[in-house]
Amino acid sequence: MLQELLQNPRSIVQILILAAAYFALLVSIRGTRGAGILKGAVFLVVVAFLGLMRLADFLGFDQIKLLLQGVLAGSFIALIIIFAPEMRRGLLRLAQAPFLAPLLHGPSLKMVDEVVNAAVKVSKNRIGALIAVERDVGLGEYIENGQRLDASLSSELLESIFYPGNPLHDGAVVIQHDRIAAAACLFPLTEDPNIARTMGTRHRAAIGISEETDAIVIVVSEETGRISVCVGGKIQGDLNRESLEKVLRDLYTRGMRSPFSFRRNRGEAAAAPPAEPAPVRLEPPLPTPEPDGTEKRETRKTKKTDITDKEKKTA
Ligand code: ATP
Ligand code: MG
Repeated sequence: MLQELLQNPRSIVQILILAAAYFALLVSIRGTRGAGILKGAVFLVVVAFLGLMRLADFLGFDQIKLLLQGVLAGSFIALIIIFAPEMRRGLLRLAQAPFLAPLLHGPSLKMVDEVVNAAVKVSKNRIGALIAVERDVGLGEYIENGQRLDASLSSELLESIFYPGNPLHDGAVVIQHDRIAAAACLFPLTEDPNIARTMGTRHRAAIGISEETDAIVIVVSEETGRISVCVGGKIQGDLNRESLEKVLRDLYTRGMRSPFSFRRNRGEAAAAPPAEPAPVRLEPPLPTPEPDGTEKRETRKTKKTDITDKEKKTA
């Protein structure tokens, strides 16, 4: 029988497919109640039923063989009933898979809501923040150099990450597939000579990562509470809740990764024009956040000029 099997390549392929399916099923339900049942069921079918059927066949016990065949067919229905909770969980997990989510649910705007709420809150509390939202170009290498989190995205978690007492507050957060992939990530600083030396490293890192990738980058200044967005090496500052929400919504839905588009790598991203080359229209600036001295006002003025210069150059 084994020789017959080996001579027929189709049989071997079918056995391999069934074995792969069995192991995939076993891995997916590993650690659950279903894993033990599945192992038991497979043992029962392969060893007991097939052995008994072969024996009944050999002895010519046709009635018993018929009965065993009936039990075997019925046991598939029993398996479906026993594994119903696992199957439901598996289907739910499939529906939430990143490559299917845009197809089934359309573009998710959860990111926009959570990021806007967090940015406005940290801005009011004068806490610095830097957040990059991945689009077509993978941010994997920056996730690797930070602290991997893979946490559910919420404004509360974003706020607490940037809270100065948090060991992960330094550096940037990367958002990937509506999840907080990592915190304390280091981005490349822009080397654009047109950016004034007075601009700090947080804003340079924000521009730098937006030059290297097509990420949407949100930066909140610790000094002024000012919220800015960087895309394609350009920075747009002085955003308030409404303008930030509008900018992010526009960028995210227009630049939404299509499940059919190919992921570009960093080199291609640098060569290709940025996904959103046109600067987004500036909304009326936020009211100056409680200037309490001439020094603070001067810093703010210098920075605004820097940003305007950069915008002019890149426009
Ligand atoms: P702010 O307006 O908030 O003061 P800034 O642009 O003036 O921002 P700095 O004052 O230099 O910048 O901010 C320093 C902080 O920026 C660091 O504590 C760190 O959290 C963050 N930062 C600095 N360099 C990087 C980098 N390469 N990647 C990510 N984050 C960085
Ligand atoms: Mg600073």
